[in-house]
Amino acid sequence: MSEPLKKYDIIIIGGGPAGLSAGIYTARARLATLLIEKAAIGGQIINSETVENYPGFTEGVGGIDLTQAMHQQATKFGMETVYDEVTGIEAGGKQKTVTTSQGKFTAKAIIIAGGAERQKLGIPGEAEFTGRGVSYCATCDGAFFRDKVVAVIGGGNAAVTEALELTKFALKVVLIHRRNELRATAIMQERVKADPKITISWDTVPLEILGDKAVTQIKLQNVKTKKETMLDVSGVFVAVGSQPATGYLKDIIKLDNVGAIIAGDKLETSMPGIFAAGDIRSGSIRQVISAAGDGATAAVNAGKYISE
Ligand code: NAP
Repeated sequence: MSEPLKKYDIIIIGGGPAGLSAGIYTARARLATLLIEKAAIGGQIINSETVENYPGFTEGVGGIDLTQAMHQQATKFGMETVYDEVTGIEAGGKQKTVTTSQGKFTAKAIIIAGGAERQKLGIPGEAEFTGRGVSYCATCDGAFFRDKVVAVIGGGNAAVTEALELTKFALKVVLIHRRNELRATAIMQERVKADPKITISWDTVPLEILGDKAVTQIKLQNVKTKKETMLDVSGVFVAVGSQPATGYLKDIIKLDNVGAIIAGDKLETSMPGIFAAGDIRSGSIRQVISAAGDGATAAVNAGKYISE
């Protein structure tokens, strides 16, 4: 087996608010810290143009701006960043090893802050038209739907955020929700209901996404009447929840029944020296502020684990 690339005190997996906050704390504690991020810094919150509930920003702050600042802050104190996907960890001994396609990295403790990934609908046409009309990110893809009709599936905070973001570009946004009441925060519900570009299709589920080169229609069903209808749309934005990104961890640490990492008060997992923070942790309320708090808690306790 080839030698590990480089040794660190702490490896943080995931560059969202949890991982970045952990990095600020571990780097300031003068622990050699490596953050590994598979895509872009920021995690899911980069999908939010404005974060209104992170304390200290009266007018809100952009999800990208906030997390870029967190990254700069951690980097200023010495945190290093590698962009790669973690495919496995070996955590039995005192030195823990993290494997990526670039090779292996070792550390005395690991903080897993890999967040969650958007849940798929699992209906015909969804996979086929992903990138050709089906999207999971309005901030990323909304501008492709200027003056078009788009559907958003879901009734939670992600769905209403996506719907409101899409009104900047789309002619019309149809929010399709399987019940007759939204799950989203009250203030977001008020905004979505007041927006003249948004209509809500209550008690409705999507059955199939259709098209040729790109999406042209979505087949819907009213769950009460069972009536099926076709809606002409150019885009379908799926926002039906998220799944913890723990596929590579299932035989290593204890997960709950939805695949989130079970961690105790100190945010230590079932494997000593491995900590969990943010949306990936079982019981997380999945907010930026709680992710940041988790990052700090995991960092302080990982530091104690190393010194003990
Ligand atoms: P969520 O709160 O779990 O909402 C998922 C929504 O999708 C629910 O309305 C659910 O319907 C619906 N749904 C689930 N499976 C479905 C299916 N197969 N077909 C049709 N509809 C389906 O998830 P989320 O909105 O992704 O938010 C996740 C967490 O992040 C929450 O804690 C949320 O507060 C937080 N958050 C997200 C944002 C954001 O992404 N912009 C902003 C702030 C906070 P039911 O209501 O009937 O269950």
